[in-house]
Amino acid sequence: MGRRRLRIVAEGSLREEALEGSDAVREALPVEPEVVVADLTERVSSSRNRMRGQVNAVRFLESIGTDPRREELVLLLISDDIYIDGFNFCFGLAYGKSAVVSVYRLRSRDRQLYLRRVRKEVVHEVGHMLGLKHCRDSSCVMFFSNSIEDTDRKGETLCQRCAATLQRIAVS
Ligand SMILES: [Zn+2]
Ligand SMILES: [Zn+2]
Repeated sequence: MGRRRLRIVAEGSLREEALEGSDAVREALPVEPEVVVADLTERVSSSRNRMRGQVNAVRFLESIGTDPRREELVLLLISDDIYIDGFNFCFGLAYGKSAVVSVYRLRSRDRQLYLRRVRKEVVHEVGHMLGLKHCRDSSCVMFFSNSIEDTDRKGETLCQRCAATLQRIAVS
């Protein structure tokens, strides 16, 4: 199975986080990631809901374009808090071949714990871009994190079922 190209676009302050995510995703999934640092300030601020003080994740992803002919997967890593309608917040969102992960609620004074959280959320959203859905196995990276405890409990790789599903998607 060939590796899909993945571009991880990170705010300048999140370079280390992006490199961690890149390492994790290369280990866990059939993708070839590349890290790019960019100034996302304008896109972030034009997608911000002023009442909530949070970035609308769908609007933000729409602002980067969702050309279905684009082969490459794109994941954006930002520091602002994000949300989708109907939820107080989300850690990340995948939408077609684009995804966003916010580090806002992953922060911890324990740097290693924080970076592990970033790795898991990046792998999770890239899993969605590859066609995987949520998994009921609470140790699988595709388990839905409703809280940071869920993120801390799960691993950064796919369970056997999700790995098999990914194989099936790849050959179909
Ligand atoms: Zn998810
Ligand atoms: Zn799974």
